[in-house]
Amino acid sequence: RTVYVNGSYLPEEDAKVSVFDRGFLFADGVYEVSTVLEGRLIDNQAHLVRLQRSLDELQMTSPVSMDDIVTIQNELIKQNGLKEGGLYLQITRGAADRDFAFPKDATPSLVMFTQEKNLLNSPAAERGLSVISVPDIRWQRRDIKTVGLLAPALAKQAAVVAGADDAWMYEDGFVTEGSSNNAYIISKEGKIITRHLGNEILHGITRRAVLSLANEADMEVEERPFTLDEVRNAAEAFVTSATTFVTPVVSFDGEKIGDGKPGALTKRLRQLYIEQALNS
Ligand code: PMP
Repeated sequence: RTVYVNGSYLPEEDAKVSVFDRGFLFADGVYEVSTVLEGRLIDNQAHLVRLQRSLDELQMTSPVSMDDIVTIQNELIKQNGLKEGGLYLQITRGAADRDFAFPKDATPSLVMFTQEKNLLNSPAAERGLSVISVPDIRWQRRDIKTVGLLAPALAKQAAVVAGADDAWMYEDGFVTEGSSNNAYIISKEGKIITRHLGNEILHGITRRAVLSLANEADMEVEERPFTLDEVRNAAEAFVTSATTFVTPVVSFDGEKIGDGKPGALTKRLRQLYIEQALNS
């Protein structure tokens, strides 16, 4: 695999970053994962807008322009012959002698790599996910997409150990989001409920697209926090993320959601999202 690191396209074993990189020492960096379908980036502009926002919030700058980032993304897709999968992009504040305050003269570092993966043909989406609940122990700026991902890694690992597929994090009795996705329930009345935007969750690019599709399809949407009890009593549940689109959740803390099968509205939303992505 060819990866991109600070101006060079290199075989992955030759790509290097400094041990003094602040991404490595402080998780002082931001990232994006865009989806590639049929060799094309999906909703990439929205990912770059969020990237710029993450950078701004951390008073960080990209080493290259957003236009150049697109050029590099497409070159990497081409060099790797990537048809379907993800494109990971990370910007860190760069290498400097270890000190908490921002260095005055560090050059930000940009790294990108591709991950080939079957996304459209997903056994997990056919089957539906089993999810457990875990306390949300993350920091208070989850709207910034930083590489500080230890809390969601612990959440996902807890799920794996429990024999589940994923974890939904909760705070004060309300679900915030999934370990690496936004979380939704559909009430017995057919209302799609997902937490409102704020500092408590990542503003998912897929979330925005899916809510807009739901509105167009005259499905009712309510953006508000929902409780763990509401999940247990929901008719359907699902998650969204760039690389998993809309994926049904069929069990929660070992109990079935609805009839324990992927729900009809969830399946429809997945189909609507994929159609739009392929036609974009
Ligand atoms: N929430 C979290 C915590 C995530 O890590 C992700 C995946 N990046 C999402 C939500 C979904 O965001 P998107 O739809 O932009 O992939």
